[in-house]
Amino acid sequence: MANEVDLILVGGKVILSSSTIINNGAVVIKGNKIVDVGNMDKIIERYKAMEILDRKDSIILPGFTDCHVHTQQMFLRSVINDKLLPMPPLWTEVLIPFEKKLTEEEAYYSSLFSLIQMIKSGVTYFLEAGAPYPEPLAKAILDISGSGIVTKATYDIYKGEKYDVKEIINATKALIEKYKENEHVDVWCSIRQLMMVSDELISNLRELCVDRGITYHLGEYQGEVDFSLTKYGMRPLEAMDALKITNIKPTVIAHGVYLSTEEQRLAKERNLSISWSPTSDSILMGNHWLAFNQYNVNFCLGSDGGALSTLDLLIEAKIARGVGKSLSVSLVYDKASLTSKALFSALTENAGIALNKKIGKIEPGYIANLITMDVRNLIPLIDPIEGIISFATGADVKDVIINGKVVIKDRKFLTINELDIMQRVNDNILSRVKDKIVELIK
Ligand SMILES: [Zn+2]
Repeated sequence: MANEVDLILVGGKVILSSSTIINNGAVVIKGNKIVDVGNMDKIIERYKAMEILDRKDSIILPGFTDCHVHTQQMFLRSVINDKLLPMPPLWTEVLIPFEKKLTEEEAYYSSLFSLIQMIKSGVTYFLEAGAPYPEPLAKAILDISGSGIVTKATYDIYKGEKYDVKEIINATKALIEKYKENEHVDVWCSIRQLMMVSDELISNLRELCVDRGITYHLGEYQGEVDFSLTKYGMRPLEAMDALKITNIKPTVIAHGVYLSTEEQRLAKERNLSISWSPTSDSILMGNHWLAFNQYNVNFCLGSDGGALSTLDLLIEAKIARGVGKSLSVSLVYDKASLTSKALFSALTENAGIALNKKIGKIEPGYIANLITMDVRNLIPLIDPIEGIISFATGADVKDVIINGKVVIKDRKFLTINELDIMQRVNDNILSRVKDKIVELIK
């Protein structure tokens, strides 16, 4: 008798990873896992599925992972204009104060709105950079049937004020406890920025997070490097290493744009990953990121949230390709750097390595986070990886499967009523949020 499974996806081409593509393939899903992959005729013979999704006219590929997103900055879209953008530093003057002004309800809708945009464009997993309201974010993940890592915005020094370390640590502890068995929500630790944390908070976080995972903004701002050299007598990552925060595994450094050669060597030696945000890194920090990755530190890509980017990682990959190549052409006349294959890996399997999760590949035993993509806009798709990185956007994503469940089918959400949510945001949330923005930037 044939094996009973939940879902079989039948595709024209199946991209298993950046290095393996099969034709006329099928993917078998049971529960939240991929259990088999192979030739469609053999798979159909071997398994009996509750549902078969026929996508012979499409490509099946691993879902993308956003390694650095601020889900609660979504309502700042189009606020950070050319007048505001040069105001230093943007994060202490606009981004953090804005997040602090949100109510829990507004934070929930911002999170949900972000998740809708992310999932529609093929993002099946993400790492929140540090949400002021992690509970509403977790609720949004569960409501949409998404999956990701929640972190609470963590700092104890802000504009001359000092907050209670115990209270901060307890908040993350409670979050860890609440979601410890949850299949959709994982909880990690975060540090907002070296300039905003005391050594006491750092040492408490080190104990709490050692086997859990941490992410922090680092090497994103020249003032931060000067601060670290003044306070610790060393650069930011060297200071983090001296404080032993680099013992926490896994670690995702957000931005890491201003890493010295020694800091890059340290990142490699300590097995830390970097998340680059092509749009915001290029706009705010210049175009030299990537070119200095001479130690081949594992990297993934992040949108940096909806305040500055579209949340469509395929657009981020195109910006990375353009900016990265442009830089190496300018410096050493090398057009072959930062290949499409490297960028595809950054969106998929590198993120799995960075977060230490079985995601980013279509392989038995991996979590069933995958997407299908319409190829009509991409023909002739002679080299699928090149085609996707150079020509596809999130608008080409047709179906999205997260944790084995079909969340979007034929571009329509099955888990939420998207129109209804957008209506609620329009009618009840936006006018209140707009008042707060006007107050903030006047
Ligand atoms: Zn950030």
